[in-house]
This record gives sequence, structure tokens and C-alpha cells, in this order.
Amino acid sequence: MDNAQKLLRALPSVDEVLKSPPGKEWLKKYPRGFVLAAIRETIQKKRRAIRGGRHKGSGISISDLAPAIGKIVRGLSAFALGPAINATGIVIHTNLGRSVLSAQAMDNVAKVSSGYSNLEYDIEAGRRGSRHAHAGRLLKEVTGAEDGMAVNNNAAAVLLTLNTLARGREVIVSRGELVEIGGSFRVPDVMAAGGAILKEVGTTNKTHLFDYEDAVGENTALILKVHQSNYRITGFTAEVPVEELAALGKKLGVPVVYDLGSGCLIDLRPYGIHTEPSVREIIKTGVDLVTFSGDKLLGGPQAGVIAGRKALIDKIKKNPLARAVRTDKMTLAALEATLMEYVDPERAVRNVPTLRMLLEEPQDIKLRARKIAKLLLKAGIRADIKVLQDSSKAGGGSLPELELPTYVVSISPQKLSAARLEENLRKGDPPVIARVRDDVLLLDARTVADGETNVLAEKVAQAFIREIKQ
Ligand SMILES: *Cc1c(COP(=O)(O)O)cnc(C)c1O
Repeated sequence: MDNAQKLLRALPSVDEVLKSPPGKEWLKKYPRGFVLAAIRETIQKKRRAIRGGRHKGSGISISDLAPAIGKIVRGLSAFALGPAINATGIVIHTNLGRSVLSAQAMDNVAKVSSGYSNLEYDIEAGRRGSRHAHAGRLLKEVTGAEDGMAVNNNAAAVLLTLNTLARGREVIVSRGELVEIGGSFRVPDVMAAGGAILKEVGTTNKTHLFDYEDAVGENTALILKVHQSNYRITGFTAEVPVEELAALGKKLGVPVVYDLGSGCLIDLRPYGIHTEPSVREIIKTGVDLVTFSGDKLLGGPQAGVIAGRKALIDKIKKNPLARAVRTDKMTLAALEATLMEYVDPERAVRNVPTLRMLLEEPQDIKLRARKIAKLLLKAGIRADIKVLQDSSKAGGGSLPELELPTYVVSISPQKLSAARLEENLRKGDPPVIARVRDDVLLLDARTVADGETNVLAEKVAQAFIREIKQ
């Protein structure tokens, strides 16, 4: 018997590995199917290496094979969707899950979803109820509207509104507001999907009240105003303020709908952000309906809110499409808990992470940046580390012109490029998403939670070690 045959005979069987101490550990932690697949793959690979004469003296006992098997089974059993550390400073980062939910929202999700709930049950009456009732109560409270409802997201809110109120009829929109929000939400396309006929008025830079007035005719279903979420037209421009549109709509008997996109529930002016009126103020202008996202400035779960006149919302609720875009109980639980914070705006600023991060004092961000820098210095990484003043963005198409003063930890590595460091960080567990500028890696402390600073520093140190190993 030659050496190869000896080795092949000595290889452990799948069953032996399964029954070994590491095998038993894996079975406790991971799905059996994945454990089996990992063991089979590792043994087969070994067998092929031996047959092909590529086996170079490394052991073939169970404990020799265990690290490779462990790595495969961990990879197979890892969730595809997982947490990440956002060190970009972009608060409403759509690619990183938009809004971070408050502790209160998470508690309520767990409470409502780990057992049965009154999702569609009217406890008072003892019969079937409506899932819209729950968020509706607080939406009225915090927006001042006659009624409100939540659907899957704001794209769905716009689609459903158009489909209910304007199917087969005309919707008047300014040419300056035919926007693309990203992720293929384009106003003309949503209009078509909703079955409405787009009637463009005005020009790209200027639209006047008379443009709208001249366009209203027999077949006009509604006037739609769209928030210029992620861009600005500057220079020789004119747009019609929503109060004037609302008055025109009343005069002509045409409903006016305003797609706000972000939709801010509190007045941000006392906090130095002057660009965005609150939903309450917009409702007060007399506009018939507004739509906005649950996970942009509101800081809640992915959802779309429709608020305004009760008669119109009642119609929207009856549209068969409403069923197709309805929200789940987890969303409703998170949304109601988030809305509850807004009953007292100061509480919202304290407890809703999106608002807290947007409005955090630069001095407090600086303290966190310093703490991260200190941990990095302690870890002894080979880089030039500084805390610098910089600016961060709101993100999510919200407040596009706003530059928020922030502090970043700048890392200028000695032995590798900042791009390489960024890649190593991104491929870590959990991944850290950071910015690179002029061959320097920047960690913006605004979007790093206090509870994440230690892990972040550890991951940065590991990203340097990873480079040495490769
Ligand atoms: C973001 C946005 C949307 C889409 O909202 P989602 O909640 O992402 O579906 C629609 N309209 C405007 C103006 C927006 O800013």
C-alpha cells in the first residue's frame, strides 16, 4: 500500500467527524444540513488533494480538519442581512438601512410580534377591526390632520393615492418637480403605474400659479406637488408655494396632494435647521393630502404615511391595492412607538436616534471622536491618527443642502493605502463603512453609537492585522 492509500484510509468519515467533540458543538449551534455539507466538502477536498499528490504533510485528523470545517459552516450559517457600523456620518443612509429604530420602538415590536395581537381586532366591539386604526390615532395627533394611514413605503403611498384619486384622469405637476428620487422612483413612472395621466405645467426652472390654473379642466383629478428632496434648482427660478396651490385647489374644487418625501414631524428651526417646515405646518396650509416616509426624518420603520382629509383617506383605504401595500404588525408596532415620542417633541429629539444624530452638538461628537482616536492609539496601529473638524450630510434625499458640522477620526496608514484599509474594514465582521478622501480614511463619529466605539476600534486594529497576514 502506497502512502496515498494509507492517507486515504486514515481520513475520518463524515460520521466520525459528526460524533467528535467539535462535531457535537457544531450541531448544537448550526443547522445539521450545513454541518454535513461543510464536513463533506472538507473531506472531499482533502481526498482530492491526496489523490492528486497535492497533500503536503498537513494533518488529516479530525482536529486538523476542524478549522476548515468550522469556517465553512460559519459562512453557511451566517445571516445574509446583518448589522453594520455606519462611520460615514450620513444619518439617513438608505443603503445602510435608513433609520435606526429607538429602544422604545424595538421593545414594542418584540411585544406585539412574539405573540398574538389586536392587529385587526376591535377589542371594544369584540369583532373585526382595521389595522389602520392604530397608527391613525397618533398620526392625527402629531400632524394635526383629520386622519392618517400607513402603507409599505412612501412610494406605495404616492402610488396608492394616485391610483385611488386619479386613475384614468389627469394629474397636474410642475416640470420642475418631475423628479427621480433614486431606486427607480420617478414621478412620471409612478404616475403611469398608478394609471394617472401626467399633465406637465410650467418649465424646469419656473412654474407659476397661472400655469396650474390654466391646466385645470374637466378631466383634472388632482394637483400634485413633489418635494425636491435630493436636488435644488437655483438661479432664475419660481415655484408656487403650497399655500397658494391649496387655495387654488379649493377655489377650483380640485384636491391638492403634496408628496413631502422626508416629512419632518417637528419644527427644526429652533435647532438651526431652517429648510424644512413641519408636516403640521404643511397640513395647516389647507393641502388635502400629504405623503411621506416613515424611515427618513421621522426616524421610524420603513413605511409610507398618508395624512390629510378623512374623506379622501377613507377612499384610499377601500382601494384593493391598499391590501397589496399594507404594513405588517412589526412595522405598525415600531411606527406607533416612534410616533408616540413626537407627542412631546423634546422627547422625540432625545429618543429617536435619527433626530438625536442629526441634532447632536458638535462638541459631543468631538468627545466621541476623541474616544475612538484614543482607543486606536492604544491599539498601537501604524498610522497617523487625528481628530478633525468636517461636515456630515442628512442623507436619504432629506435636507440636501445641509452641511452639519461634525468631527471625524482621520487615519492615514503608514504601510497600506486608505482604500485598502477601507476595503478591509468593509469586509470585517461587523462591516465598518467609512469614507476615504485624499488617501486618508475618515470615521465620522456622528453616526457611530456610543455602544459601538470599542468594536469600531477593534475592527480598525484588525483591518491593519489582516493586511499584514495577506
Ligand atoms: C424618498 C422619497 C420617496 C420614496 O419614499 P420611500 O419611503 O423610499 O418609498 C417619494 N417621494 C419623495 C419626494 C421622496 O423624497
